[in-house]
Amino acid sequence: MRIAMIGGGYVGLVSAACFAEFGVEVSVVEADPGRLAALHAGRMPIYEPGLDALVAGNVAAGRLSFTDDLAAALAGAEAVFIAVGTPSRRGDGHADLTYVYAAAEQVARALTRPAVIVTKSTVPVGTGRRIAAILRDVRPDLPCAVASNPEFLREGSAIADFMRPDRVVIGVEEEGAREVLRQLYRPLYLIETPIVFTNLESAELTKYAANAFLAMKVAFINEMADLAEKAGADVHDVARGIGLDGRIGRKFLHPGPGFGGSCFPKDTLALARIAQDARAPSRLTEAVVAVNDARKAGLGRRVLDAAGGSVRGMRVAVLGLAFKPETDDMRDSPAIPLIEALADDGADIIAYDPAAMAAAKPLLPAAVRYAETAEAAIEGAAVLVAVTEWNEFRALAPAWLAARMQGRLIVDLRNIFDPAAIRAAGFVYHGVGRGSVSQLAANPEFEQDFEQDREFSDG
Ligand code: NAD
Repeated sequence: MRIAMIGGGYVGLVSAACFAEFGVEVSVVEADPGRLAALHAGRMPIYEPGLDALVAGNVAAGRLSFTDDLAAALAGAEAVFIAVGTPSRRGDGHADLTYVYAAAEQVARALTRPAVIVTKSTVPVGTGRRIAAILRDVRPDLPCAVASNPEFLREGSAIADFMRPDRVVIGVEEEGAREVLRQLYRPLYLIETPIVFTNLESAELTKYAANAFLAMKVAFINEMADLAEKAGADVHDVARGIGLDGRIGRKFLHPGPGFGGSCFPKDTLALARIAQDARAPSRLTEAVVAVNDARKAGLGRRVLDAAGGSVRGMRVAVLGLAFKPETDDMRDSPAIPLIEALADDGADIIAYDPAAMAAAKPLLPAAVRYAETAEAAIEGAAVLVAVTEWNEFRALAPAWLAARMQGRLIVDLRNIFDPAAIRAAGFVYHGVGRGSVSQLAANPEFEQDFEQDREFSDG
């Protein structure tokens, strides 16, 4: 089978490489010349573990190719996936569908035979029907079916998520189109992945509902963390205590600086707008947006308070910039408002991230300096702020930190350090939601179990 993928970003590139791995011939159409040149040169335009090898293997096998020639990519394609961006529209928070509709129209003009047009982008309810109308208008001669196949992969574990998903959701109403998608996902049928066939609207809403629900869990545990700090409780024990209840579940109950990334912030906002427009407002989703925005806006104040009111003139080492580990994605990262606030207060900021520094530089104040390693960032710092829970930061030993830093303040926005060990090394330690230190945390078995449970808590 041959398919075309419009858009070679996180979702398009990963989906294309994984479909190729399933044995499908995939042509990726990428409009950005820089991204396309990188792909042709065998360089990944995004950071995603394992993606370079998967892409290289499938390119070598002749199943995966990249082009800006839409007509060539569409030749012989039975399905055309649209995986372009749907950012927040400036001003009102609605999903901006400019790229989706432009892609649909370009595809309609270039098609020479009927194909199933599938949205993989996250799109508001009703988008599939509008794409069907575009196809009918532009190509009344060509009967094309439209389907919705939202993507649930997470950056950082995107390949495994695509290859072994919890479920696949497909909104499709024509039998022929359903059969094309069934064939494409055959390898997942074989491993008994649940496939939810439904109508277009249900598939479109499922994606937003899933992200809003997960975002709500994160926002909820963050509120519980604030309460735990005041109440003398440890939010990790509370999270475990509620998470072991099968009705609640253990994932997405890690407190932190608030969710960021390319999905949760824009998708919660878009769902709130979609619901308002439909006159079925989702007050819970609106509250999640407000709670998370306030949390991120207050991060600078957290550090300032921990430092006694100001960080003016202090050297602050910021560890981690990406919105979560194992990605270079800086979209809506909590590091941005945090660093802006610290810079406004006059801090001397030196930042380090294993993957996201190139993406971060254009988004952060010009005065921020960047270190080559975590160790170099820490050297001589008065304050250490941990923003992203990259594994390499966990390995930083308290005594080692004490020997390198000039000051003695650690603000750990991901609770990656052991408070008792950090305090024993002479530091003032501020974690999230740790009004008391867990009785369980001293138990190594608990720590292991706890880490296995950890799900990067955003996006
Ligand atoms: P992205 O910005 O990384 O990639 C989109 C790509 O499409 C870009 O490279 C852009 O140049 C290209 N493009 C745009 N218009 C084009 C056109 N007409 N022809 C060819 N190429 C075109 O975006 P992304 O993160 O991959 O997200 C894509 C969609 O998937 C969004 O709707 C997003 O909400 C959704 N999604 C993203 C994730 C994620 O983790 N990133 C997860 C699930 C769903």
